[in-house]
Amino acid sequence: MTDRPKSERLFERAVKVIPGGVNSPVRAFAAVGGHPPFIERGQGAELFDCDGRRYLDFCGSWGPLILGHAHPEILDAINRTAARGTSFGAPTALEVELAELVVNKVGPVEKVRFVSSGTEAVMSAIRLARGFTGRDKIIKFNGCYHGHTDYLLVKAGSGLATFGTPSSAGVPEDFARLTLVADLDDEKSVDRYFNQYGDEIAGVVIEPIPANNGLLLQRRDFLAYLRQVTERHGALLIFDEVISGFRVGWGGAAGVFEIVPDLMTFGKVIGGGMPVGAFGGRADIMEKLAPLGPVYQAGTLSGNPVAMAAGLTTLHLLDKEDAFRKLETLGAHFEVALENCLAGQRCRVVRHGSIVWLVFQDEPPRRADHIQSSAIDRYNRMHRDILDHGVYLPPSGYEVMFVSLAHTVEMLDHAAQVIGDAAKRG
Ligand code: PMP
Repeated sequence: MTDRPKSERLFERAVKVIPGGVNSPVRAFAAVGGHPPFIERGQGAELFDCDGRRYLDFCGSWGPLILGHAHPEILDAINRTAARGTSFGAPTALEVELAELVVNKVGPVEKVRFVSSGTEAVMSAIRLARGFTGRDKIIKFNGCYHGHTDYLLVKAGSGLATFGTPSSAGVPEDFARLTLVADLDDEKSVDRYFNQYGDEIAGVVIEPIPANNGLLLQRRDFLAYLRQVTERHGALLIFDEVISGFRVGWGGAAGVFEIVPDLMTFGKVIGGGMPVGAFGGRADIMEKLAPLGPVYQAGTLSGNPVAMAAGLTTLHLLDKEDAFRKLETLGAHFEVALENCLAGQRCRVVRHGSIVWLVFQDEPPRRADHIQSSAIDRYNRMHRDILDHGVYLPPSGYEVMFVSLAHTVEMLDHAAQVIGDAAKRG
């Protein structure tokens, strides 16, 4: 590829010193072919690569950038906070402010703890569920991704789906043994485990809006059933809202579906583009954490002031901008525009609010094994063409697009046109 010479040279250097040239496997262009453009800067809904190319961005750093790139108020908060010191390893007011905001806005969260990534948030929530219940087994779902913790890297979607590996090497079978994998949209597959192991199951963890293996929208009934079955068996229900938290509404998917989980996990939007994760829920459960209780959990940079400032400013802006109503309007506009531009193609536009997935098959799937490989292949084949026409989509057909408040209807119409034209070419 000679049309991005600087990116190519950087990639050549990168692969010599970084495995695969990337610091997270989903950034590689393995599934879609070619090499990734190296990004120099972002502004609003646009990305600019080091070769001077400009892209309309629908990846949004994989979800965090709900207000777009380089939002001036967020940058200002980051700069002002950093000028006073970047880390203290001692409490700051910013942590309290963000925690109060989360507790006020998210019904099921009575107490919250901040960490530095979504992976850490879910790992800690599960340790807490195990410590609280005194049980070891957990149930997860085929196609739900919860970060790269050993026992959660089983049938996990995201990069694992893209690279066709059901589980990671290096995960001892003894760890994976404690993870029971059920199917989405299938009460019986969950029932079976509870019938067999009811009093050994610490919790059920699910992305209530599964968005890491396509967008597998669930029936509310199914999620309500998970609430009932966990309650009946003394297990905890954990909603992993690393993507959906502060993206689909103040209360996340729990608020949308009016289901109260015991614990919730957050990441992405809550950090405003800085490394933040969080987990929270019922006070009696959260109080089992050290220093109050026996469940240990810690982090040198947890609640980092610069990251807290970015998250806090992001959530304040979402409030001020009436964000979730606007994002729904933009998402609905994009859905219609895509449907129009893809008319006559074997394609469905699956959407919840500002989370959008294109799947090139007749029926939108509700579970991972109902995605046809031909649907993914079709997307992957079109990706480079779309990129070369200035629209940056996530580099795998299993990944979703994110609309931000920086997108305008004109941008959405333009992107839909580019995607539709690429589909006509093949
Ligand atoms: N849970 C979910 C639902 C996610 O989407 C992700 C990341 N895509 C994670 C957990 C892990 O978060 P992180 O990459 O910040 O560790």
